[in-house]
Amino acid sequence: MPDSPASFALHLPTLMLMSVVVMSAAAAIMTIFGISQRVYRGYWWWTGAMWLAAAGAVLHAVRGVWPEAVVPGIFLVLVWPMLIVTGVRRFFARDRLFSSPAIDATAFALCYAAWLACWVGDMPQLVRSTAFSLSSLLLYLYAAVFLYRIEERRRSPALKLLVLLMIAMAAVPLLRVVALVGMAGAGDLPARPLVAAGVVLPLLIGMLFTVYLCLVLTHERTVRDLRETQRQLRVLADIDMLTQVPNRRHFEELATAIVGRSGAPSAVLVLFDIDHFKRINDTLGHAVGDEALRLVARCTRETLRTRDVMGRVGGDEFMLLLPGASVDDALLVAERITRRLDAQRSNLPLPLSLSFGVVQIEPSEALESAQHRADQALYEAKRQGRRRAVPAALRGPDTVFGESRSLGFEPQ
Ligand code: GH3
Ligand code: MG
Repeated sequence: MPDSPASFALHLPTLMLMSVVVMSAAAAIMTIFGISQRVYRGYWWWTGAMWLAAAGAVLHAVRGVWPEAVVPGIFLVLVWPMLIVTGVRRFFARDRLFSSPAIDATAFALCYAAWLACWVGDMPQLVRSTAFSLSSLLLYLYAAVFLYRIEERRRSPALKLLVLLMIAMAAVPLLRVVALVGMAGAGDLPARPLVAAGVVLPLLIGMLFTVYLCLVLTHERTVRDLRETQRQLRVLADIDMLTQVPNRRHFEELATAIVGRSGAPSAVLVLFDIDHFKRINDTLGHAVGDEALRLVARCTRETLRTRDVMGRVGGDEFMLLLPGASVDDALLVAERITRRLDAQRSNLPLPLSLSFGVVQIEPSEALESAQHRADQALYEAKRQGRRRAVPAALRGPDTVFGESRSLGFEPQ
């Protein structure tokens, strides 16, 4: 009878053998990936979990000839979610994590001991199966809660999926318990291969998805690390480390973008420099000089509006771009910086004064040309005796200086 129902019967050892092959292949892929690619702490726990799952499938496959194989076999099936949890624990070691490794181990030990007691006590098959399924259910739910409580879950699609996967894998033993109890109540225990297949196949698929998600988690971490490295490199390339303001190159980049924007309001360029800064270095040392530079940068930053741009363009030289401002506004800014500096310089044993060159950027004037005029204006401020701001305007091809404004206290 070629079409008899027996020809479709599930052959449990074949199913287990298939699981061994699939799990071993998945574990081998993880191992090769781990050896050939950059991986993070915890990855080898996941790989180990996959190899042990394959070993567990081997033990289940030989149950027919070696019934005691079920003892280590169930151990390996139950320990699987805890190995995944341990891997995730190590992977996210820097985050605040739910529970502790000791609680993981205790939860696993209690669940395994409950099943083992039923097996050692030679309880009926229904009781043993129910104990195994409930233990499995609890451990998958524990893993799901653990993963759900990781802060990083909000940003990681792979972690979100892993939570859902653990819940789905917890549903497998739950459905099995419901089916077993229901069928036993009706006095109609199903064939063992059918029940086993109902568990093995979904768990096998779940484990394969887990392999995929572990690889995605690794990929996510690599991408995040690369972005962070890129960000740090950008900061190193753009920001002056001493004063924490943009360096000359970055300032010019920002300023050119603002000045070149179509329909941008005219802007003022201010170049300023600390007076007699060499003296500070020579008399008080470089460390005090550095502190003075940091103070000037901080006072300036605190004075500016958010849309203003500032840069350290030389040793003791800073440049500002004030969009939409007039020369008079810029002179006021210079006064405010000087006043703030005077109020905050209490840590420095010497008075600090600044000289400013101020220019209105002409329509369609290149930044470079405005910088040149600002430089001339600053030179003029120095020439007139320092601690003052000098505006410079274009009159035809020539630069003409406006009336200078004296700033702050008289240096001693
Ligand atoms: P002036 O009033 O004409 O500006 O005189 P000055 O002494 O300030 O002369 P200048 O602006 O040319 O001097 C800049 C000095 O800044 C020279 C250099 O030793 C010092 N310098 C440059 N970079 C740093 C730094 O990062 N830290 C410290 N402490 N000093 C620096
Ligand atoms: Mg100077």
